[in-house]
Amino acid sequence: MKPPRVHQLSPALVGKIAAGEVVERPASVVKELLENALDAGASRVIIELEQGGRELIRVVDDGCGIVAEDLPLVFARHATSKITTEEDLYRIGTLGFRGEALSAIGSVAWVRIQSRPASEEVGAQLICEGGQLGPIEPWAGPAGTCVEVRRLFFNTPARRKFLRSVATELGQIVETVQRLALAFPGVQFRLIHNEREVLEVPGSWERRERLRHFFGDDLAEHLLPVEYAQHQMRLHGWIGHPSWDRARGRWQYFFVNQRYVRDRVLAHAVQEAYRGYLMVGRQPVVFLFLEMPPETVDVNVHPMKIEVRFRDQSRIHQLVFYGVRQTLQRFEQVPTMTPTGYGPALPSATLSPEPAGSRTIGHRLANPTSKHTFDAQARNEAVARAGLQDSGGIVPGGVSGSTSAETGPIRVHTRGESGQEVLAESPAAESPATRDAVDSATKVSPVVEPGFFGMAPYVRAMQLHNTYLLVETPDGLLLIDQHALHERILYEHFRKQFQVETPPRQTLLVPEPVDLTPAQAALLLEQSAMLEQVGISISEFGGSTVLVRAVPSCWRRSAAELVQIAVEYLEEVARVPEPHVLLDELLKRMACRAAIKAGEPLSPEDIAFLLQHRSLVENAHHCPHGRPTALFLSKQELERQFRRSG
Ligand code: ADP
Ligand code: MG
Repeated sequence: MKPPRVHQLSPALVGKIAAGEVVERPASVVKELLENALDAGASRVIIELEQGGRELIRVVDDGCGIVAEDLPLVFARHATSKITTEEDLYRIGTLGFRGEALSAIGSVAWVRIQSRPASEEVGAQLICEGGQLGPIEPWAGPAGTCVEVRRLFFNTPARRKFLRSVATELGQIVETVQRLALAFPGVQFRLIHNEREVLEVPGSWERRERLRHFFGDDLAEHLLPVEYAQHQMRLHGWIGHPSWDRARGRWQYFFVNQRYVRDRVLAHAVQEAYRGYLMVGRQPVVFLFLEMPPETVDVNVHPMKIEVRFRDQSRIHQLVFYGVRQTLQRFEQVPTMTPTGYGPALPSATLSPEPAGSRTIGHRLANPTSKHTFDAQARNEAVARAGLQDSGGIVPGGVSGSTSAETGPIRVHTRGESGQEVLAESPAAESPATRDAVDSATKVSPVVEPGFFGMAPYVRAMQLHNTYLLVETPDGLLLIDQHALHERILYEHFRKQFQVETPPRQTLLVPEPVDLTPAQAALLLEQSAMLEQVGISISEFGGSTVLVRAVPSCWRRSAAELVQIAVEYLEEVARVPEPHVLLDELLKRMACRAAIKAGEPLSPEDIAFLLQHRSLVENAHHCPHGRPTALFLSKQELERQFRRSG
């Protein structure tokens, strides 16, 4: 084929190409004009629209205005008053700096600028139509600037065709105005569409009032304030209570130095911080403002200036993660049984050592095993237990070999059929036989007085329906879901194991073959490198069987079960997740699988274990899937319900 000849494009065409990067739809025009008004120091901005901005966009501000001679320059490409030198580019303190918005808009619409600096008696106006400038004319208007954009995309029919309905375009514009109104408290905004007022935001309204106005009372009632500072950086704003979660992340607003941005680092930090507080697949609502020295963030990433690059990503991630996490923890409470308000957390327990060799739940629940455990288990048990102790005390006691004087015996209260209270004293190291004897003698669930694990005296607990724990606390009572709580305890424990660089793994003495379907085997082997990263080592065994060589040492059940969990998850997801996502999901499922189930009777030690660890794990009030683990009924509420008060 003959090589086509190369030629220079006409300035008009260049203008249209460039415009395509900045001006996508009416909302992008509104954004650019508002940014100019705010950069000009306006305290009041009025936006008037016709037909969703297709026919008219007029932005009037009371900012510093433009000198008459500069008006033609405003429409020139790369002409700006905001930066001069290259260094300026690395410390941007304004919203605009590229000098391309007005030239871009001017090349695809009819634009008139009217402006008067406050120091001038008369202002000037200039029209630009499809890139063609008219004469500069005097203009006698108020101080400030008025930019009028008509017939957007009149000379780029393809773009015009892509415009959506008036309602859709208007919706986008409202969103744009709201973002800027949140970023600039103190500035008054009015938005008028087809002569009807759509939005009115007085300058006196603080951010909180703006949020309420934009997103409604219900959301505003569910916002938790964030304030956190670190290394010359400040994070502030509001985050949604976990109960106010959404299916999508559309409700996440991030502002960096008053610029609305979309950023994966920030979104990820938020998601991590909410981990365990929300159901899988749900998104929190956040309005977060970051303030940082301008030289630490690069805003020159994209013509629309909605993306930024942070010089130190991990620091920013940390700032947001800890800021959000702390706020959540500060407000973290158990839901009450009444629809409003939150009850107190249990008094924190301290670990008390138990005699070595005691058959306690620490053994059963901290090392949950299935009936079909794998061969290497016995050998690895000691190792695993060491791992458990390292992780911050999931095994209650077991650490020390002797009963300390303060701990004393477990006192098991049981209620006889007559309702009369029986007190049975048994040593903490009670044998299964003793326990069974006590149980079968009374045929009721034991009530533990867990003073021995450091709670306030007279705090008692019992199991209900083999599913729930009823716990008396100094100021009310807690109803706990045994499965959900144990699941959370195990999940936290597993997670701790994986927080180190090389999480403990156990190599199976005899690799275990696991039969799968051919598709499952293929899927698993294809992801074997990824699985290796989460501590699962598999290899081909022929046919549709895979050989499991190693599993994370926190996993005390069969290798086959773990492989099933992994393959089920991989089958569910459309795309293979990032390793940390895969790991987290596996840990959740492992915890769920290993946790005691509803319907399982618990011994007093079991109950003691759960309660003890409830106060030790983070987020004990929600299971890893986000379901609550406990409900709280306060004494006050009881008194109210029984009309004892007042
Ligand atoms: P940028 O904002 O990146 O500088 P623009 O094309 O948006 O580029 O605007 C070009 C210049 O026009 C600005 O630098 C500013 O000096 C001037 N300008 C535009 N709009 C206004 C306004 N509303 N008030 C004052 N000056 C303005
Ligand atoms: Mg601009």
